[in-house]
Amino acid sequence: MRVYRIDKESGKWKKFCPQCGRQTEEFIGSICPECFLRTIVLIDPKAIRVNLKLCKSCGTYFWGGEKTSIEDAVINTVKRELRRRYGDIRCDVEVIAIEEKRARVRIKAELKGVIAEQTGEIRLDIKTGSCDRCSRIAGGYYVAIVQVRAQNRLPTDNELKSASEIAQSVLEEPEFIAKQRILKQGLDIYVSSMKYGRKLSWAIVKQLGGSFTESRKLYGRKDGRNIYRFSFSVRLPGFQEGAKARIDGREISVVRVAKGRGIEYVDLNTGEHEFLKMQDTKKLQAISFY
Ligand SMILES: [Zn+2]
Ligand SMILES: [Zn+2]
Repeated sequence: MRVYRIDKESGKWKKFCPQCGRQTEEFIGSICPECFLRTIVLIDPKAIRVNLKLCKSCGTYFWGGEKTSIEDAVINTVKRELRRRYGDIRCDVEVIAIEEKRARVRIKAELKGVIAEQTGEIRLDIKTGSCDRCSRIAGGYYVAIVQVRAQNRLPTDNELKSASEIAQSVLEEPEFIAKQRILKQGLDIYVSSMKYGRKLSWAIVKQLGGSFTESRKLYGRKDGRNIYRFSFSVRLPGFQEGAKARIDGREISVVRVAKGRGIEYVDLNTGEHEFLKMQDTKKLQAISFY
């Protein structure tokens, strides 16, 4: 709609804004830019609400299933709402302050060549609960077990400590360690995924030597798909004949490995032969494995 009136001074037909009655040559739609600017509502506390989830276990905020900060959630919510309302709008959103249930924001937007700026408050709707990762941890969920053992001997306490530290160092969210169990023959590390189990096994072997094998077992079915549990069997290197090690401050050389029973060695200081039972092999600190 266009409104034309006779201009009294010039006697010519001129265009007028039907909203404010001012004469103008510039129109956005059917109204002048000033009136158009007044129709832009950047902050409507009733329309914009930031829905956040807060995990009370790990303190992480989630927005639409994604990890986020409150600031980012506010910015994304505002931008999404403005695009929904105005289509092609360019906007800058600045979070000035965050209070318990409100965020104070300054929004600068450009729409059809008109620049609008508003400052105001937006409601934060924060629901607390437990995130997927934390509820899985709490529920004892795991997908893979990394079993750290040694070939024809028991791993030393240091080796198990290292394996445990490696598990932490290669850990990346959302993966997690469900639990760790120290056994007579080694260490079992229960982890959140097959990928993390494999990565961890590689890292242990790379740092401590040896090798690993993997296997899977059908655990159940979910949504028509087979669910597997994975086992990674890590074997730290065993001693070969002639290998050197330290035990109780003495230096020894391995003479013979009695599979499953222990190790025969010679004390390099006294030349005496001795037999070390399997359960005591964890005390052997390797100097060389062969
Ligand atoms: Zn107007
Ligand atoms: Zn959590």
